[in-house]
Amino acid sequence: MSRRPDGLLNHNILDSDKGPQDACGVFGVWAPGEEVAKLAFYGLYALQHRGQEAAGIATSDGERILIYKDMGLVSQVFTESDLASLPGDLAIGHCRYSTTGSSTWVNAQPTLRPTKYGTLALAHNGNLTNTGDLAELVQKLEPSNGRERGATTDTEIMTALISLQNEKNVEASAIAVLPQLEGAFSLVFMDEHTLYAARDRHGVRPLVLGKLETGWVVASESAGLDIVGASFVREIEPGELVAIDESGVRSQRWATAEPKGCLFEYVYLARPDTLIAGQGIHATRVAMGVRLATESPVEADLVISVPESGTPAAIGFAKGSGIPFGIGLVKNSYVGRTFIQPSQTIRQLGIRLKLNPLREIIEGKRIVVVDDSIVRGNTQRAIVRMLREAGAREIHVRISSPPVKWPCFYGIDFATRAELIASGLEVEEIRRSIGADSLGYLSIEGLIESTQIPEKRLCSACFTGEYPIRIPADLSEGKTRLEITEVHGH
Ligand code: SF4
Repeated sequence: MSRRPDGLLNHNILDSDKGPQDACGVFGVWAPGEEVAKLAFYGLYALQHRGQEAAGIATSDGERILIYKDMGLVSQVFTESDLASLPGDLAIGHCRYSTTGSSTWVNAQPTLRPTKYGTLALAHNGNLTNTGDLAELVQKLEPSNGRERGATTDTEIMTALISLQNEKNVEASAIAVLPQLEGAFSLVFMDEHTLYAARDRHGVRPLVLGKLETGWVVASESAGLDIVGASFVREIEPGELVAIDESGVRSQRWATAEPKGCLFEYVYLARPDTLIAGQGIHATRVAMGVRLATESPVEADLVISVPESGTPAAIGFAKGSGIPFGIGLVKNSYVGRTFIQPSQTIRQLGIRLKLNPLREIIEGKRIVVVDDSIVRGNTQRAIVRMLREAGAREIHVRISSPPVKWPCFYGIDFATRAELIASGLEVEEIRRSIGADSLGYLSIEGLIESTQIPEKRLCSACFTGEYPIRIPADLSEGKTRLEITEVHGH
């Protein structure tokens, strides 16, 4: 069951200013007797920040799998009656931001494929780095079909590979396929009876297991458990496959864990109320701000944040520096998420659509403005200008992460290397470019120590250029997302 809109999605109206975008949020629930589609809906609602282009839910009643997906926010995609028409004992859900493949309905997830032993529905957060090789494998197994089904994502290729295995069930097929996948993947998938969750051997993207009174939940972040009343049990381990059905929870290792968790989840991507590797993200971000105040001190009257992602670090900076924290910028929480295209006049307002300064707070003061990261620099340039217009005497920009210099190949769409302001400019040049009186970044050591995770268990490639998972030469430096898509032949 599904509906299909006319064509491409209208992009977020502030695309030119957008920060890093996550690849996706995934959610799965096995809970006979519960309204699983509604649980999946609320789970996706809590994960909406991870992907706002499309959303989908698949459910199974033990006999057949039904799926409903569409372009747009979770709240735009599903109505009460849509959810009522998705009965079942288990469900998976997905909210998407595209990193490979275009923003079209056909690339929304979950994906669905028939298998020899039923149907497979699958949802993915991450990005594979050997999609080209895998696509060739699919074509060998299914010469007459392969890519003709229309989807253009690595997720479709994974789904095809699992469904084409000559094994006795989905579980065995997944165990045969998972070791062949390279890159970052946190997966939830299901057949008519069983919910599965798997994480790549590096555990780049998060995935957690929770317990309901009547069943089990898996979600990209623990915030997705909280919203449905599930208690946190543990993380799905890197290199683990978990199966959940009426026999309970089974776990298998298909690879030795070599953890390389994404450092950027701590900086920006994950919700502040999420736990990753036992760490509360809010507290970690406050610690980054405290450290930043030590590393990059300044004399000022007031610390403000770029809401909302810069707020915990700004609180930390105020704590570390002794300078009071205040609200200086108010966020229009919903405008950036509208899918109505603005008029030219409104578009020219740029950042003012998103943020409004509190003149009475800012006027005449020396302001420290704390943000989580700088990608292209457009947002910070606009904020500095806006604060000056609001009467700030001095503007000191502090960033709670190191300069982002390298693209991510593991599921985060920053920009091309050429678009990253720090890939071509030194800190002083960036300061001049954004028009601030001073600019300070957190060091990589400061960032890693704030997470309390050993450096060897983290990916920091977008800051350091040291990619922990092999990047094929044709995907490496200088290539853009578009070119990656072409290399993969999508
Ligand atoms: S490159 Fe950056 S964003 Fe990508 S996985 Fe590594 S730390 Fe995360």
